[in-house]
Amino acid sequence: MANRTVFRYADWSLATDTTGSGPIYAAECTSCGEASAAADEQEGPEVWCLRHAGLTGHTGFRGVITSFFRASLVEGPR
Ligand SMILES: [Zn+2]
Repeated sequence: MANRTVFRYADWSLATDTTGSGPIYAAECTSCGEASAAADEQEGPEVWCLRHAGLTGHTGFRGVITSFFRASLVEGPR
């Protein structure tokens, strides 16, 4: 008995996932690698950068924004 696998080719669409969390913001120091806590808004990580600069003299930061997407099958005729 042979195994049989069927692949179905279909159209998929990718959109922002609105069912869960919105974007998550964070920042990392490019000098020492220390990172802010994750936050729902940009303000928290930005304030962390300013405090970190004041405490350490480090002035370079990397902003990290994590967004969520959801793939879904496109219904209907092509
Ligand atoms: Zn630093």
